[in-house]
Amino acid sequence: MAPIAWKGIIAAYGEFLPPLATKVTLHEGGTPLVPSSWLEGRLGRPVWLKLEGSNPTCSFKDRGMTVAVSQAAGDGARGVICASTGNTAASAAAYAARAGLSCSILLPAGAVARGKLVQAVAHGARVLTVEGEFEEILGMAVKMAAEEGYALVNSLNPFRLEGQATASYEICDALGRAPAAVVLPVGNGGNITACWMGFLRYHAAGRITSRPRMIGVQAEGANPLVRGSPVVRPETVASAIRIGRPASWKGAVEAVEASGGRFLQVSDEEILGAQRALAAEGVFVEPASAAAAAGALHLQGAGLPDGDIVCILTGHGLKDPDAVRMAEPWV
Ligand SMILES: *Cc1c(COP(=O)(O)O)cnc(C)c1O
Repeated sequence: MAPIAWKGIIAAYGEFLPPLATKVTLHEGGTPLVPSSWLEGRLGRPVWLKLEGSNPTCSFKDRGMTVAVSQAAGDGARGVICASTGNTAASAAAYAARAGLSCSILLPAGAVARGKLVQAVAHGARVLTVEGEFEEILGMAVKMAAEEGYALVNSLNPFRLEGQATASYEICDALGRAPAAVVLPVGNGGNITACWMGFLRYHAAGRITSRPRMIGVQAEGANPLVRGSPVVRPETVASAIRIGRPASWKGAVEAVEASGGRFLQVSDEEILGAQRALAAEGVFVEPASAAAAAGALHLQGAGLPDGDIVCILTGHGLKDPDAVRMAEPWV
């Protein structure tokens, strides 16, 4: 048998991506889809975990970054810039390094998980910590990108969303059909927008015959899409979704409404409980990702059509060691 080599999402799904003259890849994607006996026992149907922490920088952000940085390199950008709650920074830093481009990162002061900051520094990014809410910092990054000839690689960059849509293709290819529902954590709303776009495209291409309901999970203290209005000073243990005014608000609402899904919220206690339950079956994820599993538990008796549920576990547990140390201070 010939060796099977996974060479990243651009190689695997190029026909669903914009044409790219330059390809910057760390062979991201191709992540495992593993069954959860914990969630299957609670929900009485197959529940799958899409382990996005298995990407090169340990979050799903790599799917978008390979496409966005490929495009930036092809365009002759001087470098890349982003505002980030952490994982975008880690991914941008790695892909910029791979491309030989400079990387500048604006981080909200005091609100970034340790593992993510360490990654950005290790890859040689210029890191500036800035006082203020995420939305203001994003505005600064947009301005600096325009003034300095840098490519902005936040999820406002449409190439990011194109790449992130590939998670949906992989889920459908692995199951041989679309799931009944996809549950994922929502911060800026880019990923739920991208994944829904992916299911629509696969459906239009005849690869699947149905489309899943999109279930967007927010933390109680950072729940603008559940409330329907922005949250001032959002607060949650899940720093990756500590967002009060989502940049992709419209796309997120569209994904939920068009798919017949919903937004729901979970408490920090539920998030940390789900993190422990997943870890107890061998899967270690960061708090934002655990929010998806905590949200899935709310779907019991929610009248979903028959079929599989997929939880997108967006980032690895090692990203945020302090989330575990809070409960286990001796570590
Ligand atoms: C970025 C991120 C999210 C939120 O994704 P959005 O596109 O901002 O909604 C969730 N979990 C993790 C681990 C992330 O890095």
